[in-house]
Amino acid sequence: SEQITVSDLAQRMAVKAREVTKLLMKMGELASESDSIDQATASLLVEEMGHNPVLVSDTKVEDDLHDAVDERSSNIQARPPVVTIMGHVDHGKTSLLDKIRETKVATGEAGGITQHIGAYHVETARGVITFLDTPGHAAFSAMRSRGAQATDIVVLVVAADDGMMPQTEEAIDHARAAGTPIIVAINKMDKPSADPDRVLNELTAKQVISEEWGGDTPMARISAKTGEGIDQLLEYISLTAELMELEAPLDGAAQGVVIESRLEKGRGPVATVLVKKGTLKQGDLVLAGEHYGKVRAMIDEHGNRIQSAGPSIPVEILGLPETPASGSEFLVVSDEKKAREVADFRANREREQQLDRQNTMRLESLFEQM
Ligand code: GDP
Ligand code: MG
Repeated sequence: SEQITVSDLAQRMAVKAREVTKLLMKMGELASESDSIDQATASLLVEEMGHNPVLVSDTKVEDDLHDAVDERSSNIQARPPVVTIMGHVDHGKTSLLDKIRETKVATGEAGGITQHIGAYHVETARGVITFLDTPGHAAFSAMRSRGAQATDIVVLVVAADDGMMPQTEEAIDHARAAGTPIIVAINKMDKPSADPDRVLNELTAKQVISEEWGGDTPMARISAKTGEGIDQLLEYISLTAELMELEAPLDGAAQGVVIESRLEKGRGPVATVLVKKGTLKQGDLVLAGEHYGKVRAMIDEHGNRIQSAGPSIPVEILGLPETPASGSEFLVVSDEKKAREVADFRANREREQQLDRQNTMRLESLFEQM
């Protein structure tokens, strides 16, 4: 079959050969710049670059930053799962999030959750679970398009009286594309017209097969109205998380993702972030997307000021000069010069990515002629 050297390929894409060998390594291929690769690998590589254009731009600035951060991470510990609730409109996503919050948080915490910060965590008999309190596919897609995989598990809500609907299918496709396990919550079981078997049938046709039917998808029959079955659902989430062996370094500079942000009168830019690695502390210098600033205050979902937040814990931060886009990565950096450098770099990146996409298209048409 057709072969092309790594350096030729790089030249055609107008990127550095080092970027190509680096990406190849990520794809599991060890090749030097003078080595030849076959067309299939080259196409895959081009495709990969199209999907992750950031990889091919000059990422030295970011690489240096990440290397510096990674070195300081240590003390690997199990971390709570992060769950996103998806499903068709009116099937009960918001009701379910509210019910979990109401039954699992209000009892243990004085005053319960006093404000919506875009995420919250609950204590269960089997451990902590974090819910992204932004149901919907748009949020999930926004994260993914920025390469931020914030969700470990998708809970797919399907109303027992309505069955599978277009957005149910869409949610399944999203979860599959992200490689995220699905747990089904068959909701509205309190309704006389509830027909859970129909839901099981329809999901089976979409290759989402219940454990009861020999498949690998846990399905809980619930009512977000009465609370029935919610403990079962939480147990399925914890069991799934245990199998996933989720872990993260507890020590070191924090890294994570911006869940949402807004400008608040009297408070300025407020961002809810989810820590993925390390521990975020008040006073840390945070770089979030194209902005950076010192964390002036941290507030949890109960409205309490806190001093630190570890992996999978959502927290509101104050101190950024502007609101970073949801789905942006954040990380703690040690010096301001570095922060400024990367922030500037990122501000230019969008333009670069557009160029990369054009290059990719040009190269694809080149291969069509080969
Ligand atoms: P979302 O669009 O998926 O967020 O759905 P909502 O949570 O807004 O719920 C849509 C409607 O269904 C609301 O009127 C809810 O009160 C109702 N609903 C949600 N869950 C249940 C349930 O378990 N039982 C019953 N009877 N109604 C429910
Ligand atoms: Mg809703």
